Amino acid sequence: MPPRRRRDPAVTSAPGLVVRGLRKTYGAHTAVDDVSFTLAPGSSLGIVGESGSGKTTTVRMLVGLERADAGTVTLDGRDRSARPRGRSERLARAREIQMVFQDPYLSLDPRVTVGGCVDEVLRLHFRLAPAARRARVAELLDQVGLGPREAAALPRALSGGQRQRVAIARALAAEPRVLVLDEAVAALDVSIQAQILELLTRIRREAGVGYLFVTHDLGVVRHVTDDLVVLHHGRIAESGPTSRVLTTPEHPYTRLLLDSVPRRGWDPARIAQQRAAASG
Ligand code: ADP
Ligand code: MG
Repeated sequence: MPPRRRRDPAVTSAPGLVVRGLRKTYGAHTAVDDVSFTLAPGSSLGIVGESGSGKTTTVRMLVGLERADAGTVTLDGRDRSARPRGRSERLARAREIQMVFQDPYLSLDPRVTVGGCVDEVLRLHFRLAPAARRARVAELLDQVGLGPREAAALPRALSGGQRQRVAIARALAAEPRVLVLDEAVAALDVSIQAQILELLTRIRREAGVGYLFVTHDLGVVRHVTDDLVVLHHGRIAESGPTSRVLTTPEHPYTRLLLDSVPRRGWDPARIAQQRAAASG
């Protein structure tokens, strides 16, 4: 008989994505330390913080690209912390949380057409007849504003914004419960950023998928997240409803982040001084 797995007391049956006490160290460096948050089904949570604050490491542990040293992750009550038992469990976990990366130029296979790239995901996760798959590919691309011409093209024929649309369609093809967007609009022009954010807002309404919105850019989270987690040196400095955190930040580090957003009357020298004082 296989040994019974010890049930972690932090494992919960609560719906949504529940993260408790996540921790990751690299040698002597603690990249993520005691990070906990909950993403309710279909809601949107922003993870913000400066470069190096542990955002990517956190989400890599959630999707299973990195093993946590401590902590638990459950999705709708299913434990994702323990090693998956076999291929079908690994596939099921991969399907449930999909990720869109920052660089739309690196995340697509240059030899596969846009339609083919979405089709690969359908073949991996679902048993569909070829005609049904073709129809689904067209539907998914349409959802992100791409047509038959783009479907037949190779990624190099597309702009950065179009490629990011493909990456989103591909992620949605898996019908995930959660979409993780790690700096997904950071590489795009401001006007294209706005289009993609609008697209994501519409998709969340239509598909009911939850978002984990990882960004160093507070302007981005303002409109697309319900709640915020502010990371500082791998720990949560502050968390709460986005509007509250952005209007009345409680933690000095959050205030510093907000003051760092360039705007009228913005004084980079003063920010640098405050920053030096905060990290001293
Ligand atoms: P962010 O996404 O907020 O910019 P990261 O999660 O990428 O931050 O990194 C957090 C910290 O962990 C940084 O100090 C980074 O140098 C370190 N780090 C990340 N990945 C590794 C790794 N594979 N090996 C060693 N250190 C790492
Ligand atoms: Mg990162």
